[in-house]
Amino acid sequence: MDFALTEEQEMIREAAREFAEKDLVPHAPEWDRNREFPRSAVTKLGELGFLGMMVDPQWDGAGLDSISYVLAMEEISRGCASTGVIMSVNNSLVCDPLERFGTDQQREIYLKPLAAGKRLGSYCLTEPQAGSDAGATKTTAVKDGDEWIINGVKIFVTNGAFADTFIVYAVTDPGKKTRGISAFLVEKERDGFSVGTREKTMGIRGSCTSELIFDNVRVPDYALLGELNKGFKVAMITLNGGRIGIASQALGIAQAAYERSLEYAQTRKQFDVPIGTFQAIQWKLADMATKIQAARLLTWEAAHLKDLGQDYSVMAARAKLLASRVAVEVADEAVQLHGGYGYVEEFHVERHYRDAKITELYEGTSEIQRVVISRALMNR
Ligand SMILES: Cc1cc2nc3c(=O)[nH]c(=O)nc-3n(C[C@H](O)[C@H](O)[C@H](O)COP(=O)(O)OP(=O)(O)OC[C@H]3O[C@@H](n4cnc5c(N)ncnc54)[C@H](O)[C@@H]3O)c2cc1C
Repeated sequence: MDFALTEEQEMIREAAREFAEKDLVPHAPEWDRNREFPRSAVTKLGELGFLGMMVDPQWDGAGLDSISYVLAMEEISRGCASTGVIMSVNNSLVCDPLERFGTDQQREIYLKPLAAGKRLGSYCLTEPQAGSDAGATKTTAVKDGDEWIINGVKIFVTNGAFADTFIVYAVTDPGKKTRGISAFLVEKERDGFSVGTREKTMGIRGSCTSELIFDNVRVPDYALLGELNKGFKVAMITLNGGRIGIASQALGIAQAAYERSLEYAQTRKQFDVPIGTFQAIQWKLADMATKIQAARLLTWEAAHLKDLGQDYSVMAARAKLLASRVAVEVADEAVQLHGGYGYVEEFHVERHYRDAKITELYEGTSEIQRVVISRALMNR
């Protein structure tokens, strides 16, 4: 792997940083405080091509590689972790499976507006009894003529109340667990679809995590994504890519916490000297920078494997496992380094601390990443 970025990748990173500095950093605290969905930022992300980054231009995407995607995801998440997850879900969990498993008709109807940022997507797998055990899905889809009728409740759906197009996983062959699940494309305009409770989350408060209700929602035959009863595979393959996105989100959060700490260490004085003069503080910064770079390289390796068309599932799990832990540890140290001010809203690091934790939970908890990694080791 060549560690040098191409001119195009550098440009993408620069563009994402510029956008984040101007349109995200100044507003992120307020979105967090008010639990406000960053609508205007998401619209701009779409206009800049950041919502369908890896989609072929034929389907209105930007046609970029996964390395460019992780670079942009890190920068956007450094500016606002909520905007980061909104972007990650649309790119990795919605556009990617649509392009990969969809028919040309589905790409034309559903993918194009999602890749262009004209519509926003959601990934609906989790249910109250089906979290890590996603095969315990109870939502059903029953064939009726040339339509499917979907019934059930999905929870914890990112973008939920603000999304337009949903990939919904439902049981099509009861009793067969993971072998009886299929994926469906559902638009918010369908009768019987409604948004339930919005969760009051610890972090990423600008993003919207909602319950979604499907009450006799009818979709056409062509809304079936991928093969009948092969939806669980669609869900799992999708999450492999999603984990690269979340690893990048974690990197962005960690980088923001680190940069604020570095600046604070040089400006905050105690005992008549900047606290950065103390070796205890210097070592914290050294550890933060080292951990972030290690996690970044693993994330880049996963993205690189994806770009090569090789199996990246284990590397994506490793990248998410490490980057999410690094984000939590770095944000924790950032609060510590800021002393009492770290506990106060105006100094931002408490937000990074709250934002970091989710990266260890969604798109497979850290325990589930370890299951994926160790399973591959044992099967060698
Ligand atoms: C803010 C937020 C946004 C989310 N966005 C989405 C979304 O857009 N779409 C979506 O479908 N879902 C989403 N989720 C759901 C998320 O992916 C799940 O919460 C997560 O997969 C864990 O499931 P659970 O909460 O049911 O925990 P559980 O599965 O009940 O896990 C509880 C604990 O048991 C551990 N555990 C479970 N099984 C095992 C095992 N086999 N081995 C070892 N340990 C195990 C877990 O690691 C965890 O520590 C979101 C969640 C949150 C909080």
